[in-house]
Amino acid sequence: MPKPTVAIVGRPNVGKSTIFNRIVGERVSIVEDIPGVTRDRIYSSGEWLTHEFNIIDTGGIDIGDEPFLSQIRQQAEIAIDEADVIVFLTNGRDGVTSADEEVAKILYRSKKPVVLAVNKIDNPEMREDIYDFYSLGFGEPFPISGAHGLGLGDLLDEVAKHFPKYEGEDYDEGVIRFSLIGRPNVGKSSLVNALLGEERVIVSDIEGTTRDAIDTPYRKDGQDYVIIDTAGMRKKGKVYESTEKYSVLRALKAIERSDVVLVVLDGEQGIIEQDKKIAGYAHQAGRAVVIVVNKWDAVEKDEKTMKEFEENIRAHFQFLDYAPIVFLSAKTKKRTHTLLPMIQAASESHNLRVQTNVLNDIIMDAVARNPTPMHNGKRLKIYYTTQVAVKPPTFVVFVNDPELLHFSYERFLINRIRDAFNFVGTPIKILARARD
Ligand code: GDP
Ligand code: GDP
Repeated sequence: MPKPTVAIVGRPNVGKSTIFNRIVGERVSIVEDIPGVTRDRIYSSGEWLTHEFNIIDTGGIDIGDEPFLSQIRQQAEIAIDEADVIVFLTNGRDGVTSADEEVAKILYRSKKPVVLAVNKIDNPEMREDIYDFYSLGFGEPFPISGAHGLGLGDLLDEVAKHFPKYEGEDYDEGVIRFSLIGRPNVGKSSLVNALLGEERVIVSDIEGTTRDAIDTPYRKDGQDYVIIDTAGMRKKGKVYESTEKYSVLRALKAIERSDVVLVVLDGEQGIIEQDKKIAGYAHQAGRAVVIVVNKWDAVEKDEKTMKEFEENIRAHFQFLDYAPIVFLSAKTKKRTHTLLPMIQAASESHNLRVQTNVLNDIIMDAVARNPTPMHNGKRLKIYYTTQVAVKPPTFVVFVNDPELLHFSYERFLINRIRDAFNFVGTPIKILARARD
């Protein structure tokens, strides 16, 4: 089910990132650590009572060298474009400022619900200070204190009242949802066009349930696909769209709604730091991943070039060792026909459930070939393995002591499982549990 998105807007220093971190809680820090991949704290998921939602800290999206007012205006526009509900944050200690009024002006123009919060109301006596904020024209201001965690429950109650009502699931089970992510100009839109066999992306008839993203449904060889978030690729022209943080935000939103993520690289330009970051998000989300090297037509090559590029990718994206690599050209359409079968294979693997008895045979065979590690004179014993989830395939290994299952042995088991069942393009997770 698509989750609603909440965006926090407001001028600098009112406490946006403090509130964001409060709401996101532990989630940001439990994200797996990948060397070289930093998680931008601008987009994460939150929970309130029975509601799950995504939250954006628009303050984290810096718009290059734009002047101060232009920056906050654009952040407000991002909130309007991306969110279902907007939290307009102000600072009770400063009162209403002209910058707040600027933000308000932008938000008036939106049809999205806006909830006004007055932060830094650290104690009840200060509640008197909030009445001025009625003048902003967004109704009752909610007094909160990000520093002390006060008032957030009432604020989130109000926010949740405005969540859109969804009618069931996003798409049917059998539909493969995929997205193309990558920095600007690697050729994502061109590739979508090449796949669709049209000159340009035609606005599709089915509007995604997330309203702002217009998804493109697509059927090929009896398989239904939905290309997620092509709206983000098509809609060009706003200043903030070329900023890195904004493209990261779009990518994170698209990844979340996808089964398979295509990480698109520019073969002509090679790999840069931003590619690595974007690839890291796909991995962290646990989606199936296919790496696409586009613009291969423009690369001067000999018989070694492809192999060298592949080695380069493997060296830069070690965490994506499971992702197959496709070299193609959206321009000439060379090898674009190999992409959908690859997406299909990755999706099947992502969703694959294996037989428990076969699984246990494979684990026992693996242990026979490569004995379990010892630590302080104690040897890891594996009793039983079972698959507990798909998307991605997740296995619980019952052992004598979970501490003894080190990273390298876990890696070995994952690779054995991968080879034995021919998993393609999907991460595999192993959880160790002590048997009672
Ligand atoms: P942002 O620029 O809007 O993201 O603001 P920050 O979250 O970085 O906060 C700006 C400053 O206000 C920091 O020094 C925070 O510690 C402080 N701050 C945030 N929330 C509160 C609050 O509820 N009470 C007080 N007294 N200070 C706060
Ligand atoms: P996006 O920003 O990732 O959606 O990239 P676009 O699809 O807009 O493409 C950016 C530029 O790269 C455009 O000028 C395209 O014509 C060009 N381009 C896209 N794919 C290819 C390709 O396969 N080969 C070559 N030579 N150029 C390409």
